[in-house]
Amino acid sequence: MLLPPHKDPMGAAIADYHRTGRAGTLRVFSSQFDEDEIPVDTLFRTYPEMPALEQRALTLATGRTLDVGAGSGCHALALQAMGKEVTAIDISELSVEVMRQRGVTDARAIDLYDEHLDDSFDTILLLMNGSGIIGNIDGMERFFQRMKRLLAPGGCIYMDSSDLKYLFEEEDGTYLIDVAGEYYGLVDFRMQYKQVKGDTFDWLYIDFDTLSYYAEQYGFATEMVCEGEHYDYLARLSMA
Ligand code: SAH
Repeated sequence: MLLPPHKDPMGAAIADYHRTGRAGTLRVFSSQFDEDEIPVDTLFRTYPEMPALEQRALTLATGRTLDVGAGSGCHALALQAMGKEVTAIDISELSVEVMRQRGVTDARAIDLYDEHLDDSFDTILLLMNGSGIIGNIDGMERFFQRMKRLLAPGGCIYMDSSDLKYLFEEEDGTYLIDVAGEYYGLVDFRMQYKQVKGDTFDWLYIDFDTLSYYAEQYGFATEMVCEGEHYDYLARLSMA
């Protein structure tokens, strides 16, 4: 499902920043965290400004590449500058329009799960806590079935995520996690930009071992490509 402009705070912030070079506050609310904000300029980061693990993912991308949830097109533009072939998709019509204006040659307003997207790709990128798009643990099957459909033979996925266990760290260095409860990386978010309020959505942060466990159930092998500076990592998933 696409996000119409009146329900798309991040797209509105991206469009404002693209048009004027600055933007107001993109506010983020969650039942698990205090109110936070996303600095809109970081959504326009250039290759040298990207975290090392994103740079690594872009360097490793080969062949036809799909950038899922491409936002302002920062990764797609960097890939094009490297001479790589990239299709950028996003459910935000506002963001897709900005991507086109910024020079992304193949930017499409389409949901990852929309079967009208039926090309096949050698590399699929999900960056900036890209595991979030899986939504929740129940979303694993749908996600991996979709990946199987979109990956060309021998293709692979690069996805980054964070292990949120640090939120549950006690003073003695142990982690207080309710293993009988919901998986601890499941977060709900809602965003607001100026008067534009988005709906609440689930966003999954997942530790490497839990990701590997589910990936294996759906026929994918998971490798750790590199770890970031704060419980974050880049994983490579390929059909086993
Ligand atoms: N990758 C970009 C943006 C990350 S924000 C960056 O690193 O800067 C996540 C993006 O995913 C948003 O632009 C949102 O609109 C998009 N998105 C969320 N669900 C999606 C889906 N099912 N299909 C395609 N895009 C999606």
